[in-house]
Amino acid sequence: MSENIINKMSYGSRDVNLLDYQQSCDDFNWQTDPQQILNIAYQAVDRHLNTAIENKVALRWLSKNEQIIDFSYRDLAEQSSRFASVLEQFSFEQGVRVFSLVGRHPLLYISTLGTLKFGGVFTPLFSAFGPEPIRSRMEIGEANILITTKSLYRKKIAAWWHELPHLKVILFIDNLEKSSNADSPYSELDKGCYWLAELLTNANSRYPCAKTHGNDMALLHFTSGTTGKPKGVIHVHQAVVAHESSARYALNLKQEDIYWCTADPGWVTGTSYGIIAPLCLGVTMIVDEAEFDIERWYNILQQQKITVWYTAPTAIRMLMKAGDDIRQNFDLSALTFIASVGEPLNPEAVRWSEKVLGLPFHDNWWQTETGAIMIANFASQPIKPGSMGLPLPGITAAIVKRNEQGHVEAIETNMEIGELALKQGWPSMFRGYLHREEKYQKCFQDGWYLTGDLAKCDSQGYYWFVGRADDLIKSSGHLIGPFEVESALMEHEAVAEVGVIGIPDKIAGEVVKAYVALNPNIECSDDNLAVLKKELKGFARKKLGAAVAPKEIIFRQNLPKTRSGKIMRRLLKARELNLSEGDISTLESDEK
Ligand code: AMP
Repeated sequence: MSENIINKMSYGSRDVNLLDYQQSCDDFNWQTDPQQILNIAYQAVDRHLNTAIENKVALRWLSKNEQIIDFSYRDLAEQSSRFASVLEQFSFEQGVRVFSLVGRHPLLYISTLGTLKFGGVFTPLFSAFGPEPIRSRMEIGEANILITTKSLYRKKIAAWWHELPHLKVILFIDNLEKSSNADSPYSELDKGCYWLAELLTNANSRYPCAKTHGNDMALLHFTSGTTGKPKGVIHVHQAVVAHESSARYALNLKQEDIYWCTADPGWVTGTSYGIIAPLCLGVTMIVDEAEFDIERWYNILQQQKITVWYTAPTAIRMLMKAGDDIRQNFDLSALTFIASVGEPLNPEAVRWSEKVLGLPFHDNWWQTETGAIMIANFASQPIKPGSMGLPLPGITAAIVKRNEQGHVEAIETNMEIGELALKQGWPSMFRGYLHREEKYQKCFQDGWYLTGDLAKCDSQGYYWFVGRADDLIKSSGHLIGPFEVESALMEHEAVAEVGVIGIPDKIAGEVVKAYVALNPNIECSDDNLAVLKKELKGFARKKLGAAVAPKEIIFRQNLPKTRSGKIMRRLLKARELNLSEGDISTLESDEK
């Protein structure tokens, strides 16, 4: 075995019962029928009623202020039924679009499951978004209901929500324990706004799961585009089949596990692996309301005796940066499997975790569009640090190129770079970009789904991430569309043109950098430019939220443009990173 491989025998797997990769692939069959009645909430929760795990803790919530609340599978079934009953009381119908703008709060989990139980469509948004990304997504997604907190509502929603024609109801998650005779009665809230806990208290705790079919829409996740508005990615109830099987294969998850997924609920991982997959498998999942904190995280791993941990490279790099000594204060012996997703995981991070945490991270790969993990360092296989791993059972992956006839073909050559593609047809494959059929169709050719990622594959079938084929930026796990950032900056009166790119960052992977050309009437003294830079950063933060706004702004007299007037982000990036400028035959005007 080469030195670049972590052979499981060398660290002595703590799990004697690992599934065999080849056997799992050979035996695999999706066995799904899109016409069959299937409901994600039933698979995740109601199916466990009247079984041995009905009263087992399904969700343990750790609040920011050290409160712990446990919800059994029965509790989740009853609470989600109450939520479905509330939707019925409002006279909404199946297909209702429910959006959330909240952190990791119990009512998020209850309303996700309740929406699916009712036959509605759930969309989580990042609560760190500013008003503009929230509004554009709710407009595109034709939101009927928003679940949020009163303070987020005041800061980001109150000013415009009445302008959205489909949006009828806002539900506040504050006051978890609220009963009908507590403080802050309805009259204190704006018209159309309600305390969710109060409605739940008065609702029926029995609601049979809607008889949805496998191909009925269940989830609408938003992802960023390079040239246009964000895209609503449609997923159907059948996706649950892939959520469940991929968690078993890629996360090695089993019913006896205590599982912690640290993903933000606004990201697809927060739904597929932060709610659906673990509940389907009957595990106990730990949900921490607080944001990343080194001591707190090690404490949770120790105190909650986490066995399976699913996190992201930015967090892992922050743990590495904190040094190895702090880890010695904690007992992490319960851990059996740790995995990472969302951005490239540096090989050093895998080696660090093996040395310092006692287990190597298993990187895996997927996208909002794929709905579930597609490629993973499989539990029973050797890990190759720096590689995303092997295609999961049921998934056919390839590196593809276009041939002379324009057809997409798999390349056989070992380690040649091309686009990563997946054979069409797995159950959690997205079924459309909402109202953008043409854009959706462009993602597929000759039976392949084209991922937009560049990668290579080695002789043992392991996939290695190379980069995005487009201009999308991955910063701390957030996929950011440059167009959205450019549009926000363009609204400032001083700005004439903007080009936005991602530049490498040691912790966040990439950070957003904006190149701005100012209007001719702007005074370009050093003092004025310094003030303007600060102002533009604040302007963008207010509109977009801190996670999306540029960290760096550079002024230029002109930006490089094609003859058709498009700013060449690729060229900005090549120049920023001292890379080859490639084909610049379409360059019309240049930066100065
Ligand atoms: P999202 O749809 O926001 O989950 O972003 C999906 C994109 O994140 C992929 O197309 C990749 O560019 C990137 N990504 C996800 N997982 C990995 C990984 N393990 N290694 C490298 N990039 C990843």
